[in-house]
Amino acid sequence: MLSYRHAFHAGNHADVLKHWVYSLVLEYFNQKDKPYWVVDTHAGAGIYRLDTAVANKTAEYLGGIARLYKTSPPDAFGSYLQAVADTHNIAGKDSYPGSPCIADHFIRAEDKLRLFELHPADAALLEQQFAHRKRQVSTQAKDGFEGIKACLPPPSKRGLVLIDPPYEVKDDYARVVSCIKEALKRFSTGTYLIWYPRLQRPEPQQMLDKLRELNTDYLHICLDVQQPSADGFGMHGSGMWVINQPWTLRQSVEPQLAWLAQTLAQDDHARAWCEGQQK
Ligand code: SAM
Repeated sequence: MLSYRHAFHAGNHADVLKHWVYSLVLEYFNQKDKPYWVVDTHAGAGIYRLDTAVANKTAEYLGGIARLYKTSPPDAFGSYLQAVADTHNIAGKDSYPGSPCIADHFIRAEDKLRLFELHPADAALLEQQFAHRKRQVSTQAKDGFEGIKACLPPPSKRGLVLIDPPYEVKDDYARVVSCIKEALKRFSTGTYLIWYPRLQRPEPQQMLDKLRELNTDYLHICLDVQQPSADGFGMHGSGMWVINQPWTLRQSVEPQLAWLAQTLAQDDHARAWCEGQQK
């Protein structure tokens, strides 16, 4: 079943959290000259327009990136907002970058980007987006949980992986865990970023419990933008589980979380926090 289209959600509070953390990790990778690979197992369409009927059906970006435009974000958001501005320069001010364009903003001439997207329409858009960049960027209309195996370890033994499934099928939670276990066997020193939705159902927590059991280095960052709904449905926030975190990540993220929760709040239950272990 592939009914999920990220175009309905682009630029929402979950994208802001995910793409901000992703940008901080990519920025950290650029501190060393040694080339690295970025693997994005669930890449989406690459770039989104926020002035379309699709994006405005629920206009989720109004509770996300549009809130940041109305404030003066702290310096820690600078590199993320620069990546967004880069997309505006390419595609206009009503555009918003997906994770492939965020990564593309940061990678340097010798770094590589490996993108997987299974939905045929989004895979075609992604292919079109990067058609002129084949030396550096590969796009594959394949299952990213499987495709990642051939990418690890990267030749330079430096790399980061974004795992961002739609979780439309419950199986995705278990597949994230088995994908991480397999990936760590192949490339134990890689940095892995896993996004997940905060929902009132057991699967996200079960996935986190299994990730915790791996006893790796990790940083877990959570953002709730509202109180969980009375009927038990819907996403009230999201989280990022980062394995083999850059040692600077927590000190970059933690002081900004109160501001982020306040800026993206839907009600007065909004909050953000992080926890983890460094190894
Ligand atoms: N990472 C993107 C971003 O931040 O801009 C958003 C990705 S969206 C949450 C999830 C995407 O995964 C959808 O475009 C969906 O079509 C795709 N997808 C679903 N199952 C997949 C699979 N097994 N392998 C690769 N892509 C998949």
